[in-house]
Amino acid sequence: MKSVYLKKGRDKSLRQHHPWVFSGAIQSVKDNPLSGETVDVFGHDNTFFGRGAWSAHSQIRVRMWTFEDRAVDESFLRSRIRSAFNLRKELFRDNKTTAFRLIASESDGVPGIIVDRYDDYLVLQLLSAGAEYWKDTIIKILEEEWPSKGIYERSDVDVRSKEGLTLRSGLLSGVDTPAQIRIKENDLSFWVDIREGHKTGFYLDQRDNRNLMRLFSKDKDVLNCFSYTGGFGVAALKGGAQSVVNVDASTAALNLSKQNILLNQLDDTRVTHLEGDVFALLRQFREQGQEYDVIVLDPPKFVKSKNHLNKAARGYKDINRLALSIIRPGGLLFTFSCSGLMPSNLFQKIVADAAIEAERDVRIIEFLGQGSDHPIALNFPEGKYLKGLMCFVE
Ligand code: SAH
Repeated sequence: MKSVYLKKGRDKSLRQHHPWVFSGAIQSVKDNPLSGETVDVFGHDNTFFGRGAWSAHSQIRVRMWTFEDRAVDESFLRSRIRSAFNLRKELFRDNKTTAFRLIASESDGVPGIIVDRYDDYLVLQLLSAGAEYWKDTIIKILEEEWPSKGIYERSDVDVRSKEGLTLRSGLLSGVDTPAQIRIKENDLSFWVDIREGHKTGFYLDQRDNRNLMRLFSKDKDVLNCFSYTGGFGVAALKGGAQSVVNVDASTAALNLSKQNILLNQLDDTRVTHLEGDVFALLRQFREQGQEYDVIVLDPPKFVKSKNHLNKAARGYKDINRLALSIIRPGGLLFTFSCSGLMPSNLFQKIVADAAIEAERDVRIIEFLGQGSDHPIALNFPEGKYLKGLMCFVE
């Protein structure tokens, strides 16, 4: 059996069932596993820890499939996938929402496998050598366990190169997807472009937060920064906002945002779409004395690696300071960071520093996170990546 032996004293995280084994923890490797193949993992004293996927190129050299002595095969993957599906069936049993994350990688016990449902279609993203190795089996299980019109692959993310994998996207099974898929999120509808859109097409993880801000939008002037296809903007209008300004750098995203307003039969005369850089536009608003009652800041991932943390912190502080300087007294700020490498307490500190610089008194009234279809396995705290603060600004 192809096996990996750890160095002495390097088994602590495996004892806690953390699924990653880093290259530096490995003492020796037996029988030359190929990338993606299953290996047995042992401590230096031959204690058996479980089985994982070997990744020859990544710093994360093994991703654990199981901490039990069981075979990693089709039936193993099927049981993990069924369990992930059962949770979603429970979460979305009212059928009001037809787009959600069906399988969330490590957080569902299947490292590197992401599957999102968009109405009648599934989008598959394979992020690790182990996930890639089982690709055909995964497709077969998906076809059998969650019948859909088609399965589209969006394995076009940079992290794949760290695993020695090429980037790929395209139809895997079923009928080709339409250019845009119409999904329901509670009583809102959205067009999603699963072929070209960000991530797998939509920011599913913000569903609950869109719903929350909607409750506070009635008669308000709302500024939706980093608006993408207008998720928060549509929610705000549905909640009765007096005006909404959507700001994004992407023309394609803003075009879809305009269509999403029409799709929900909302009053498009209340909406402005601005294409540009949020940093520059916030400064411009401040200079012009333009103010808002509710501001959403949902920037892209600023922290790409640990070396970027300081630079990212400056970016977060900048936009939060600028946003706080143009919120009317009694207004609300919904501010987010989707960088897994940004700790929650540091993010809160950054917003606190921004408030001092903007000379505003700010109270956190809710701590926000990712939706329940992006669960956080206790043995994998890294699965908590989206954090947000709902702030009352005096
Ligand atoms: N809130 C959105 C998701 C935002 S994703 C939702 O709920 O769907 C981040 C968005 O920021 C992307 O659409 C990207 O195009 C945009 N973006 C990135 N950098 C930007 C910048 N400097 N100025 C404006 N938009 C930017």
